[in-house]
Amino acid sequence: AGGISIQNVTVRYNNHAALDNVSLIIPHGSHIAVVGPNGAGKSTLFKALVGLAPIETGSIQIHSEPLEDDLYCISYVPQKGEVDMRFPITVREVILMGRFRRYGLIKAPSSRDHEIVEQSMVQLSITKLANRTLNELSGGQVQRVFLARALAQEPHILLMDEPFTGVDVSTQEATLQFLSDLKNLNVTVLVSTHDLNLAARKFEGVVLLKRRLIAYGTPSQVMKREYLAAAFGEQLFMLDDAVLIDHCCPSETTERE
Ligand code: ADP
Ligand code: MG
Repeated sequence: AGGISIQNVTVRYNNHAALDNVSLIIPHGSHIAVVGPNGAGKSTLFKALVGLAPIETGSIQIHSEPLEDDLYCISYVPQKGEVDMRFPITVREVILMGRFRRYGLIKAPSSRDHEIVEQSMVQLSITKLANRTLNELSGGQVQRVFLARALAQEPHILLMDEPFTGVDVSTQEATLQFLSDLKNLNVTVLVSTHDLNLAARKFEGVVLLKRRLIAYGTPSQVMKREYLAAAFGEQLFMLDDAVLIDHCCPSETTERE
C-alpha cells in the first residue's frame, strides 16, 4: 500500500514533547489539512516526515518503506521565515535545485531538467521573474517560486507548512489551484493552516493536533465543538461558527421556543 504511516511518534525538544505518541495513516493521493493552535507541533510533524526532527520513539513508513529508504520523493515547502531569503540565488536556480535529487551530485542537469524548470515557471506564471533573486520578490512571488520548485521535483508527497498565512488573495487562489492540479496527478498532500474554514471546505481529511492527535477524519467528523475545544481551549471563542459543521448543542437550539 502507498501513503504515509506514522506509528506512535514522539518528538521531544529539551524535555518538552512537541509531538506525543502520534499515530496516523494517510492514504496515498489524499489531501489532508493539519490544524491546531500555535505550538501544536504542525511544523514538527512535517519536519519528522523529512527527517529534520529528532524522533524519540515510534516509526514512520512511506509507501510501506522506512523513512530512511530513499525510494520516494517528498517535497517540503517550509513555513515563511524559515528560509534565508538573503542568499543571492535566482528564481530559475531555486527551481532547478528542486531537480537536484533527480540529476544528482555528479551529473549536470539534463535538457529535460531545464525543460521541467521552464514548464514549472510557466505553470505558476513567474517566467518573468526567472533571473531575479529571492530578495527582490514579494511574499506572494516567493511562494509561487517554492510551488514551482515543488512541482519541478515531481513529488509523490507534498508537505506545505502554512502556505495561506500572510499571502494575498491571488496567491491563496494560485495555491489552491496548484493543489487541485496535484490532485489530478495523485500526489499525497499535507497542508498546515490556521484557517479552519478553508481546511473544512478544501480538504477531504483534517488532522487536529495539539501535541497529541486530537482527531483525524473527514471535516465533518473532526470539526466538532468538543474536539475544537480540546485543541484550542480558550482561543475557541475566536472561531467562526460556520466551521462547526456539526451543530451539536441541543440545549442552545431546542429550549428557545
Ligand atoms: P506549530 O508549527 O504547530 O506552531 P511547532 O512544531 O513549530 O508548532 O512547535 C511545537 C513545539 O516545539 C513548540 O513548543 C516549539 O517551541 C517547540 N520547538 C519546535 N522546534 C524546536 C526546536 N528546534 N528546538 C526547541 N524547541 C522547538
Ligand atoms: Mg508551524
